[in-house]
Amino acid sequence: MSQSRTYQVRTYGCQMNVHDSERLSGLLEDAGFARAAEDTTADIVVFNTCAVRENADNRLYGNLGHLRPVKDRNPGMQIAVGGCLAQKDRGEIVRRAPWVDVVFGTHNIGSLPTLLERSRIEKEAKVEIAESLEHFPSTLPSRRESAYAAWVSISVGCNNTCTFCIVPSLRGKEQDRRPGDILAEVRALVEEGVTEVTLLGQNVNAYGIAFGDRQAFSKLLRACGEIEGLERVRFTSPHPRDFTDDVIEAMAETPNVMPQLHMPLQSGSSKVLKDMRRSYRQERFLNIVEKVRTAMPHAAISTDIIVGFPGETEEDFEETLHVVRQARFSQAFTFQYSKRPGTPAASMDGEVPAEVVKERYQRLVDLQDQISLEENRKIVGREVELLVSEAEGRKSDERRRLSGRAPDNRLVHFSLDEGDEEPRPGDTVTVEVTYAAPHHLIADSGVRGLRRTRAGDAWDARNGRPVQQNAPDVLLGMPSIGKPEEEPAASVGGCCEI
Ligand code: SF4
Repeated sequence: MSQSRTYQVRTYGCQMNVHDSERLSGLLEDAGFARAAEDTTADIVVFNTCAVRENADNRLYGNLGHLRPVKDRNPGMQIAVGGCLAQKDRGEIVRRAPWVDVVFGTHNIGSLPTLLERSRIEKEAKVEIAESLEHFPSTLPSRRESAYAAWVSISVGCNNTCTFCIVPSLRGKEQDRRPGDILAEVRALVEEGVTEVTLLGQNVNAYGIAFGDRQAFSKLLRACGEIEGLERVRFTSPHPRDFTDDVIEAMAETPNVMPQLHMPLQSGSSKVLKDMRRSYRQERFLNIVEKVRTAMPHAAISTDIIVGFPGETEEDFEETLHVVRQARFSQAFTFQYSKRPGTPAASMDGEVPAEVVKERYQRLVDLQDQISLEENRKIVGREVELLVSEAEGRKSDERRRLSGRAPDNRLVHFSLDEGDEEPRPGDTVTVEVTYAAPHHLIADSGVRGLRRTRAGDAWDARNGRPVQQNAPDVLLGMPSIGKPEEEPAASVGGCCEI
C-alpha cells in the first residue's frame, strides 16, 4: 500500500459518530494513509453516516452522486460508507450507488482498512455488516481531533426503547467497558497532554448495570477525580430514568467534574413521555433538577426537547413550556419531530400538522432564548477560568478575540489587551465577563491570568511549533486560585438528538 495515499472522513450525526470518526482516522493512519490536505481530492473518502433524520438517506445519496464524477476522473479513488445508515441500508447502498467500494456497519469499524484493501485488489464492492460488536471502539487506534480534549467511550448501545429512536436497532444492546480499561485510557490521554475528558455513552447512568454495580458511574467519576493532571471531566448523556443521587453527590464532591449537566427532557408532558416510552415523568425530571441545583447552585443544566411528537396537544406542549420555565436550562437543543423510518413512532397516529409544530417550536425557542439570556446575564461581572479552544463561533480580529469554555461549558469570546501574551488552545485564562448574549458571553477587559499548560504544549507539538517547557504548569499574570469558579453550561447534544 502506498504511503502517499490520502483519506478524508466526513462525519454526520451525534458525538458517538464524531468519536467513531476519530477511530476511523486512526485506523487509516495506522494502515499508512495520510489525512488529505484541505481542498485536495482524497484517495479514500469515508462517509460516517447518521440514520436519525428523515432525509439522511437523501443527503447521503446526494453526496455520493456528487462524488461519482470525481471518482470517474480519479480511477484509484475509493469510497466507503459506514455508520448507522450503513448498518440500516446495508447492500442497498451499493445497489443504489454502485461506485461505492466498501460498506461497513456500526459494529465493525475496525474492518475498514481490510475491506478497502480487499475491494482494491479484487476490484469489487465489499459489504460487511456485523450484528454485534467486534471490538470495543476504544481498543482501536485513534486520531484525536483535539490536542487538549478527548472523548472516552464508557459504553456503546442502549437498552432503552424510546419510540422515536433508531439507536437501539442500529447500535445494539448496551455493552459496558470495564472501569479499569476506561481509567487506563484516561490516564494515557492525560500523559499525552489532554486536560479535559468527556465520558461518552448513550445512557451513562445505566453504566455498570451489565456487570452488577448500579453505582459504577459515580465511582468512575470519583476515580477520575484521582487522576493527577486531569482538570475537567464531563459526560454525556444521562437518562433521567437511571439518574441516581450518588451521581449528584459524586459530581458535587469531585473538584474536576465540571458543574454541567446535559439531561434530555424530550417532553414536559407525562402523557407524551409515556408515548415516547421514556419511563420518567415530569415530577421526576424536575426533582432531579432541584437536587442538582441544591448540590451545585451554579451548575448549568442543558437539555434536548422534541416538539410535535405524534399526539402532542396544546396542553401537552404547555407542560413542556412549564418545565422549561421551572428548570431554567442554560441551553436547550430543540427539534421539530420528524418521522424516522424503522421506529415505532413512525407508524403512530396523531401526526401534528407541520404549521402547528413550527409555531410551537418558535414559542419554545423564544422562551428558551429569553431564559438563556437571563441566566447568562447573571454571570456578567464575574471572573471565570476558561480553557482556551481552537476557533469557535464569532471572533473579531479588530479586538483580537479568542474563545474558550468556562467550567460549566459556556462559550466565552475574550479579547486580549495590548501587550497580553497570546494563549494557545489548551492553556487556561482568567477573564471577567462583560456582556451576555443567549448563546455566548463576551469578556472584553483583557486577560487577568494566563496559565500555560501541558495541554497547550501538546497543541504546540501537534502543530509543529517549538514546545516551550512549561510543565509543570506555569502561571503568568494573576494566578487563578484552587478550584475553578463554578458556573452553568452549553452542551454537545446527547444520545437523544433527533
Ligand atoms: S433516545 Fe437515547 S435512551 Fe432512548 S433509545 Fe435512543 S439512545 Fe436510548
